[in-house]
Amino acid sequence: MIYFDNAATTAPYKEALETYITVSEKYFFNTASIHQSGKDAARLLEAARNQILDLMDLKSYDLVFTASATESNNIAIQSMLKRKKQFGNTVLTSELEHPSIVNVLEEMKQDGFNVKYIDTNDDGTVNLEHLKSMLDSDVVFVTVMALNNIVGSVQPIKEITKILKDYPKVHFHVDATQAIGKADLDYNGVDTISISAHKFNGVKGIGGLFIRDLATMRPVLYGGGHEYNVRSGTVNLPGITAMAKALRLTLGEARDVNKRLSQFNQKIRESVEDLKFIRLQPKAAPYIVNMSFVGAKGEVVVNALSKRGIAVSTTSACASKLATLNETLLALGNEENVIEGSIRISMGRSTTEEDVNKLIAALKEVYEELGDVLK
Ligand code: PMP
Repeated sequence: MIYFDNAATTAPYKEALETYITVSEKYFFNTASIHQSGKDAARLLEAARNQILDLMDLKSYDLVFTASATESNNIAIQSMLKRKKQFGNTVLTSELEHPSIVNVLEEMKQDGFNVKYIDTNDDGTVNLEHLKSMLDSDVVFVTVMALNNIVGSVQPIKEITKILKDYPKVHFHVDATQAIGKADLDYNGVDTISISAHKFNGVKGIGGLFIRDLATMRPVLYGGGHEYNVRSGTVNLPGITAMAKALRLTLGEARDVNKRLSQFNQKIRESVEDLKFIRLQPKAAPYIVNMSFVGAKGEVVVNALSKRGIAVSTTSACASKLATLNETLLALGNEENVIEGSIRISMGRSTTEEDVNKLIAALKEVYEELGDVLK
């Protein structure tokens, strides 16, 4: 299978797996145990934490380990909104967010919060003028993702941080799940930031939440008090040390990988440019190409490629419970048939030119095969 679904998940680095196994064997202890082995494990945990904070250039932050970005997003939103209720009820978010943001916010409406969506520009970035116009004394929380998982648009996080400086009551959360190694963003000044190891060639089941002011956070799940009392539960030390390894390797090779993927991205785009019924979404982060076979269903295209040994994904599967059509593609002003026919091709560090050539040939075959379905 030629793998073009790296935005869904990535293959772990061999080195990250080795770390996982070594730590599982030699440091399987509970980091909360007070015997020497527990202390050794706790020391390893803190070393991994500091290494990640250092690599992310967030040295003044705290980092709480979680099981996923979904969990990190839930903690940031639920914990903070509980606290902010007394100061205001309005939450601002982009129209591009992952269901692990949108569905949580929609749920928070039950507690009296108003959720307002910031308009999207044609290139898939949030409209900063609209954001500014929506800020008032009732706004307590703003959440905007760093890099969109459907089309790859990179958001102006630094500019938003600057705008929000004048609103000290506002907590700014960034879902950076897709951005690690893909976009060189400065998160300093953001209040909380979510990441997930399996999106950057770490292992699954491990995420993180960077927190600017730990004292403001409250747990969502209560328990034994691990992870600064924000996230109880025995700590997944093998996963965490493997995440630190994966992060170091990812950031170390990011420039080269992105350069290569940028060329592949261009090649894929050029190969379908002349095909009348294919619609390309605007170019964004190098690893994602989102295109529509207009008139066909995305699932049909995904299955036709799958039969040819190529794994891509539909975009329709990523819609939240709010909408039946993908919200990112809707926000970008696409018509229904374009959204329904869309597929997401997402490359990774192991994608080769040969893979890309095979993909291009298969895309053309499927296009021919669909014939009159396309319109
Ligand atoms: N946010 C974004 C932007 C994502 O792409 C994903 C994964 N699809 C998540 C959050 C959820 O990540 P996890 O699988 O770690 O829960």
